[in-house]
Amino acid sequence: MKKLEGRAVICLALALALVAGLGLFITKLAIHGDEWAAFYANSHVYDEGYMTVGSVYDRNGVLLLKNDENGQHYHENGTIRKATAHIVGDRDQNIITGATYAFKSDMVGYNLITGTKGILFGSGRSVSMTIDAQVSKTAYEALGSRNGFVGVYNWKTGEIICAVSKPALDPAQKANADSATGTYINKVISSKAIPGSTFKLVTLAAALKEIDDLNQRTFKCTGKYEIEGEYVTCQSVHGTMDIFGALANSCNCAFAELTLELGADVMEDIVKDLGLTSSYNIDGISSEKGSFDFDTAKITMGWSGIGQGQDQVNPLSMMVYMGAIAGEGTAAEPNLLMDSKTKTTTLLDADVAKQLKEMMRNNVIATYGDRNYPGLELHAKSGTAENIKGESTDAWFCGFSGDYAFIVCVEKGGYGSQAAGPVANKVLQAISKNN
Ligand SMILES: [Zn+2]
Repeated sequence: MKKLEGRAVICLALALALVAGLGLFITKLAIHGDEWAAFYANSHVYDEGYMTVGSVYDRNGVLLLKNDENGQHYHENGTIRKATAHIVGDRDQNIITGATYAFKSDMVGYNLITGTKGILFGSGRSVSMTIDAQVSKTAYEALGSRNGFVGVYNWKTGEIICAVSKPALDPAQKANADSATGTYINKVISSKAIPGSTFKLVTLAAALKEIDDLNQRTFKCTGKYEIEGEYVTCQSVHGTMDIFGALANSCNCAFAELTLELGADVMEDIVKDLGLTSSYNIDGISSEKGSFDFDTAKITMGWSGIGQGQDQVNPLSMMVYMGAIAGEGTAAEPNLLMDSKTKTTTLLDADVAKQLKEMMRNNVIATYGDRNYPGLELHAKSGTAENIKGESTDAWFCGFSGDYAFIVCVEKGGYGSQAAGPVANKVLQAISKNN
């Protein structure tokens, strides 16, 4: 009898262990099922390491990628393929912002109840991205032979209309081991770089918040501003001007003076408040964070306040800041999937945003030329970033027009508005025609 009882206990223990194991498996299945289904060794989904199910569309229903048992079929137009490569993704899944990597479980069509039902019917599922393929093509062509990036998003809905990055690869071609540096990186989302004078909009936000009589002040530029025996210099002698003039002239002397007056703590707070030091979650993709250091020698801090010293800005977060100026303090956070819910973020006070808005409009009228941007009622700021002494500078241009906030950089392009302004204009004109 004792023997029997002993065996019953063992049986019960084994049964409990089985139930516990099954429970653990079901829990893991619920949590990780989509990853397992999309795992590259799953032969229902992959053939020799390449996905054979799922398709990717743009916002207008243009088919950008269709996977089937015969392979991966990208758009027939080579420029569209390259212009959308960083969002659609490559078949080797090297581009982490690409749908083939970031949204592969959506493409496989895994579902906890039905499993990979989509695969049984041979097609997987389709994902619809917020990007516009035609607008992306316009952006890619506008960059021409130069590297750089173009980001545009709807600051009311969060939809990313265009996130073009060069150099790009043609995803229809086999991966090239010696691709140019940056080929697999979507610079809009995953990079950070010296922003040049576009950063004056950040220093200006702090000054508008902290200095009560800013609008009554005058600034005097003699072409150089002395800090402890060293100089922050301007391209020319801007003379006497108010804060509107200081921004429209992009006067380094005026902004270095403001930066030192505000101090390191205020500057550190403002980059944090404006979302420049944190990462956005774009349907599961984390954007790169910017990095800043104002706690330095005074001369370095002076240069940092005008976007030249220790600043590294992530373009996407700067684009959201542009959206928040347009939205009088509040903007939608960016997304890439058409069925995403809109989340909003408040980055600055409405009265500060309104003043920035007025000054950015004045920049276009006074400096960049409104006739160069017909019908756009453009608000903008340019930047010319010096990366390596003696090399040609990177041209930046950021701002907004209507519902769209944008950021453009033409690497080694020369002067900000002259090189990057026309790129922004072409892309914004294409959007106003297409949407
Ligand atoms: Zn000046």
